[in-house]
Amino acid sequence: MAWSYVTHYVCDGCAAAYELSRPLNTCPACGGLLEAKYDLPAMKRDLHPGMFEGRTTSMWRWHEFYPLREEAHIVSMGEGGTPLLPSVYAGKQLGLSRLYFKNDALMPTGSFKDRGFSLAVSFAKELGVSQGLTYSSGNAGSSFAAYANRAGLNATILVEYLANPLKKAMIGLYGARTATLYFESMNEITSMLEEAVRELGLYQFVNFINPVRHEAMKGYAYEISEAFDWKAPDWMVHPVGTGGGIWGAWKGFGELAELGWIDSLPRMVAVQPDATGPIPRAFREGLREAGRYGDSSATIAQSIAADAPIQGGRRVLDAVYDSGGFADTVTDEEILEAMRWLGKEGISAEPSSASALAAVRRGVRDGLIGPDDCVVCVVTGSGLKQPSAIQKAVEESPLQLRASFAELKALLS
Ligand SMILES: *Cc1c(COP(=O)(O)O)cnc(C)c1O
Ligand SMILES: [Zn+2]
Repeated sequence: MAWSYVTHYVCDGCAAAYELSRPLNTCPACGGLLEAKYDLPAMKRDLHPGMFEGRTTSMWRWHEFYPLREEAHIVSMGEGGTPLLPSVYAGKQLGLSRLYFKNDALMPTGSFKDRGFSLAVSFAKELGVSQGLTYSSGNAGSSFAAYANRAGLNATILVEYLANPLKKAMIGLYGARTATLYFESMNEITSMLEEAVRELGLYQFVNFINPVRHEAMKGYAYEISEAFDWKAPDWMVHPVGTGGGIWGAWKGFGELAELGWIDSLPRMVAVQPDATGPIPRAFREGLREAGRYGDSSATIAQSIAADAPIQGGRRVLDAVYDSGGFADTVTDEEILEAMRWLGKEGISAEPSSASALAAVRRGVRDGLIGPDDCVVCVVTGSGLKQPSAIQKAVEESPLQLRASFAELKALLS
C-alpha cells in the first residue's frame, strides 16, 4: 500500500517523461503541458471503494489519487467534500428529475480554487519551492494567497484589472504581494508566464502551466461517484476559464472507470460567456484547437471571461469531444436568471458559477439533456465574491415599515 500512486510526468507535446521531484512547470524540451501519471494497475490491486469510509471528508480523503507523496506536507483548510444538493426548484422548472448542485461555494476562500491550491501549495512545499507566481481573474489569487501564507511560501499574484474591487481586496486580506494586470488578450498573459518559466525558472501556479494544480479537480469524480453509490452522473456541467476544473474532473472519472469502480462516464459540458467563449466557438466549428475570440470585459462572468485558452484549449476540447458532451455560451441575462434560480435553491453563486445552470437550460431546450438524465452542475464560487452582481440580479424590496405592530399586521395582510 502506497500513500500516493503517482509515478512521473509525461509531456502532452513530445511524450518525454520527467521525475516529479523536479520543480517543473511546462516541458523543458518542447514547452508542452505536463501530466502526472499514476500506477493504475497497482491501484486496482490495492484499493477498493469501501476503504474511504471513516476518513477525513476533505479532498485529502483521496490522497492515493493525488501527486503529493507525503502526508506531512499537506496544507489544508478543510477544502473539498462539499455537499451534492438535489435541486428543489430549477429541476422542476426544466422538467429534470435528477438535477444536482455540487456546492463548492462553501470552500474556505469561497471558490473551488481551494482544491487546486491546497494541492499545488502542498506539492510546492514538498519540492522545497519557496516562491511562486500566479495570474488570477480574482478567485485564484485569494486562494493562492491564503494557502501560500499558511505554508510560508512567498506568493506574487497578478490580478486582472477586470476583477471587482472586493476580489482584489480579498487577496490583500490574505496577505500576498499583488499587482493589477492590464492586457489586451489572455494570449499576452500566457506568453508572459511561459517566458517567465523559461527565463527565470519561476515556479508558477496557473492551471496547466503548473502541472499539478488541476489534478485536485479529479476530486469531483471521486466525491460525486461515491455519493451516487459508485455511479457516474450522465452530465457534468462546468463553467470554464482555463479548463482546469473540467479537465481534472474528466481525468478523475477516467481513472475510476479504469479501476472498474464506475461503469459509465459522464458527458462533459463546458460553459463560457457569450461575450468571449473561444471553446464553444471551436466546438461549433468541430475544431480541437481554439483561437482568440471575444472581449473579456463585456460580461459579468469575470471568472470565465478568458478570450484565449492556454495552448489552444486542446485539453478542454478533448474532454468535451471524447466524453460526447458539448460546449455552449450563455448571455449575461441568462446568467442573472440562473442566479435567481439558484437563490431559490438556497445557493448563492457568482455569475461565472451560475452559468452552469444557464447552460443546462440550453441543453434541455436543445434536446441534448433528457428529463431523466442525472445532471451535476458545479457551483464554483460564492455570490458573495461579486456582490454587485447579486444586486443586479435582484431588486431591493420596495416594502417598508416602521417598527410597530399595526404596520407589521398591515404588511402581512
Ligand atoms: C476560476 C473559476 C472558474 C473557471 O475555472 P477553470 O478551472 O479555470 O476553468 C469558474 N468559476 C469560478 C467561480 C472560478 O473562480
Ligand atoms: Zn515536451
